[in-house]
Amino acid sequence: MSGDRPRVARVSPELRTGAPSGLYDYLVPEELGAELALGQRVVVPFGRRRVFALVVELPSDSPVDRLRPLERIAEPRSLLLPHQISLAQWIADRYLCPLHEVVRAMVPPALRTGKPESRRRPRAHPDEAEEGSAEGAPGATPELVLSPDQEAALAPIREAVNWGRPEQFLLFGVTGAGKTEVYLAAIKAALARGKGAIVLVPEISLTPQTERRFAAHFPGQVAVLHSGLSPAARGREWRRVRAGLAPVVVGSRSAVFAPVPEPGVVIVDEEDSSSYKQYDAMPRYEAADVARHLGRLLSVPVVLGSATPRLESYHQAVRGRGLRLLRLPGRFGGRPLPPVEVVDLREELAWGNRSPFSRRLSQLVSETLSAGGQGILFLNRRGTSSVVLCRSCGEALGCPNCSVSLTLHQAGRTCSCHYCDYRIQLPELCQNCGSRLLRALGAGTERIEAEARELWPEARILRMDRDTVVDRGAHRRIYEAFLRREADLLIGTQMVAKGWDLPGVQLVGIVNADIALHFPDFRAAERTFSLLTQVAGRAGRGREPAQVVLQTYSPEHPAVQLASAHDYEGFATLELEARRQLRFPPFTRLLVLTRSAEREATARQEAEAEAERLRQALAGSPVEVLGPSPAFIPRLRSLYRWQLTVRSPRLEAVRSHLPEGRGWAIDVDPA
Ligand code: ADP
Ligand code: ZN
Ligand code: ZN
Repeated sequence: MSGDRPRVARVSPELRTGAPSGLYDYLVPEELGAELALGQRVVVPFGRRRVFALVVELPSDSPVDRLRPLERIAEPRSLLLPHQISLAQWIADRYLCPLHEVVRAMVPPALRTGKPESRRRPRAHPDEAEEGSAEGAPGATPELVLSPDQEAALAPIREAVNWGRPEQFLLFGVTGAGKTEVYLAAIKAALARGKGAIVLVPEISLTPQTERRFAAHFPGQVAVLHSGLSPAARGREWRRVRAGLAPVVVGSRSAVFAPVPEPGVVIVDEEDSSSYKQYDAMPRYEAADVARHLGRLLSVPVVLGSATPRLESYHQAVRGRGLRLLRLPGRFGGRPLPPVEVVDLREELAWGNRSPFSRRLSQLVSETLSAGGQGILFLNRRGTSSVVLCRSCGEALGCPNCSVSLTLHQAGRTCSCHYCDYRIQLPELCQNCGSRLLRALGAGTERIEAEARELWPEARILRMDRDTVVDRGAHRRIYEAFLRREADLLIGTQMVAKGWDLPGVQLVGIVNADIALHFPDFRAAERTFSLLTQVAGRAGRGREPAQVVLQTYSPEHPAVQLASAHDYEGFATLELEARRQLRFPPFTRLLVLTRSAEREATARQEAEAEAERLRQALAGSPVEVLGPSPAFIPRLRSLYRWQLTVRSPRLEAVRSHLPEGRGWAIDVDPA
């Protein structure tokens, strides 16, 4: 067997951030060959120091001549499983990120610390012995009795779990359809086969309610991973999972990297959640797509669930390409979806009402309060005052080339397109109707709260936005307080939109549906539709009937119309056709190149030069290079940012031409 023993170990050293990093080869000493494994943490000489490193490849040979030997194995139990190393390689390739950065992102920081010089033997994983019952002793597991619809959706999933088939499903069902019960049953099937499960949920729906729901079904077997854990706690949970003590992992984005030894099913709830895309750090991965590849690597089924799937997913599913569509029609128990009433804000304005609440919404809030019900007032603050809207006709200033809204730049009065850099001076009059009422969009949550306190002084009001929620604990406290009915009105941003199950809510007021609609992004309509659907879905989960009021300057916009009719499929069909015509995903793929620099001129000139170079290199191919233009956030952490958008039916052709080096960031399939 000694012939099979690895001779060379390719490792990713754990260096201080900022230190030049990469992969390095070491000779495997004869006596370590039998024990050395992929994903193990080892100690290697590095310069004149010794450092920890993770083994990411065991190549048969090395291009380097005189290799130094690696010193020792730091921990016999590998931190990353072999299939995770394969996953890392796929991520590196797909998202154009160096492998060592992927590996660094996969392993929790707490497991990457320590100094190897001290030769202190790592304690024998004390956590593993004491853990195993974090959720309390096994009690009565609630028995699941699925409805016939749920059974029908579950059957093909269960079969794929039982036969270990890498089939992929899109479980499409309205909010409250009972998708979670289907996930639970699929996990149960995996556990029955001695396997585990990875369940991704958006960060904001990782409420105590969600945690309890999973923990109650699989007592003592669930690990919950979210951003609120301290580094030490995250490290402990990770080790517990790695040791096989918690076969079911429920977590947000990075839980897709949890070292579940043998997942039998991978589940992504609310697969369209933007929280699955890591956009601000390397690797810029999309966790739902990573989950799908994990399923392929392991040959296990993957279930994506949503009431409003990404159009990319829906498109694949209806064409039967790689995703099988499973429908859960209607809400569980035959509860109706709440009726949605659309209020035209242009009429309110014409009537002389300048408050953020229409007469109809005010009336319904008052009625709800006097009936002792709870209400949610929702507004989307994202993109405040970056988009210019005509308050008379409801049109936003748009790009003639890209059919997205123009962004108003704070400095000067220029509006520009985020994709192609079309520019105009901020006009005096609406180009559509000639009105002077062109205004930057967006009243903030504070203003809404102040107005609400004036209108309903006796109401107990909670506000939830980025200012009131500084940590995960605050999010929990507000949510639980509202659930316990310690407040009557909850005013919030998209943080209140998703996942929550609040039976006391009888009224949802969407204060301004337009902000998301005119977001300068080709996904604006899709985002709006999803958001409106999700917010509306918060209503009517209890016994009392409920109602949704949607205020908008664009009542005839298809995203508004179809959301108010709860018609996802109608919307998807329409929007997919528009995407096809405008050559946006899923009919093409995008890649955004961002050049950051301390001086604005450098960022712009470099981006211009790069655009020129790319256009020449790719001339005659179907690849388009759009821009450069200032990034949506033109200055971030004191760096100016200019960007190029590359659009192509396939991105493979583009890869070899991309710029490298400092200052450039590459985002494949930007969110
Ligand atoms: P979704 O995840 O699709 O939004 P949920 O799974 O949260 O929907 O289900 C909505 C509500 O219906 C929840 O309160 C859930 O407990 C209840 N429910 C769903 N399926 C069942 C079932 N088979 N038996 C009892 N209650 C169910
Ligand atoms: Zn107008
Ligand atoms: Zn444009």
